[in-house]
Amino acid sequence: MANLEAGMYFDIDVCALYDDGRFLKQWPNFKDDLYENPTDTLNCIKLGIYQKILKTLPEEKLKYVLNSISSLPTIKLGILNYEPTIYLRDLKLNYYEKLVSTRGCVIRVGRVKYLVQWMVFACFKCRLQKLVRQSQEIYTLPKKCDVCGTVSKFHPVLDSPGVKSIPFQIIRIQEPLNDEQENKGRVPKVLDVELMDDLVNVCMPGDDITLTGVIKIYKEPNLFALLVHSLCPSIYGHEMIKAGLILSLFGGNAKRAQSRDDIHILLVGDPGLGKSQMLQACARISTKGI
Ligand SMILES: [Zn+2]
Repeated sequence: MANLEAGMYFDIDVCALYDDGRFLKQWPNFKDDLYENPTDTLNCIKLGIYQKILKTLPEEKLKYVLNSISSLPTIKLGILNYEPTIYLRDLKLNYYEKLVSTRGCVIRVGRVKYLVQWMVFACFKCRLQKLVRQSQEIYTLPKKCDVCGTVSKFHPVLDSPGVKSIPFQIIRIQEPLNDEQENKGRVPKVLDVELMDDLVNVCMPGDDITLTGVIKIYKEPNLFALLVHSLCPSIYGHEMIKAGLILSLFGGNAKRAQSRDDIHILLVGDPGLGKSQMLQACARISTKGI
């Protein structure tokens, strides 16, 4: 049981699955599902592995496992030979939530932090303890006590054996440039990558790696307003000007003859209104700016 609780690791060779006629007959859209909806697809595979494991357990252990949800083994999947490998500079928003492979050199390795997966809460009134699954983004408390009915009055029990967490770490990778690109003075693209669990501390700065993962962005309901207010916050107001500067930093898309991809901006105003400070802020946050 100790082994099961520590979790089990399986490698999936995607090429082998694509060639497996029997498997594809059962799951004809597997290739598209894996690319379009990787989280659900990988969870389906994990569920299949679970069912296989549970069938092999003796009845006593099976009862123990099924009675205690938090003691279910964690299934960890490694994905091998996933193609095609996409260059970092080509990773755009249309890959959001898709499974992609990319290559790069590790230029920064963050320190290891811990992410809570299961948290135990105790009711303030009757002390009943409740185990709550935590999603990755939101700290979730129980809404109501099952015994005394008290609403929203719980405190976390950090030293409970029911609390489960996994290590995670953020690394930054940088695209490799060839000599020609370097001579042209191109700034290499970088990508921040979240590594979980077994993948923590497996790479060092300087390592060239190929990685397969799901593309995520910053989930912010009003992202543009946040960007506008984050540009040069020491200057109050001037939202329209800041919005224009932000848009020019992103650049345009010269698809039609009338449009250009580098947006020019003329900033006119009396002295002392903060024009220079706003432009200096732009220079600081752009990859190449003076
Ligand atoms: Zn209670």
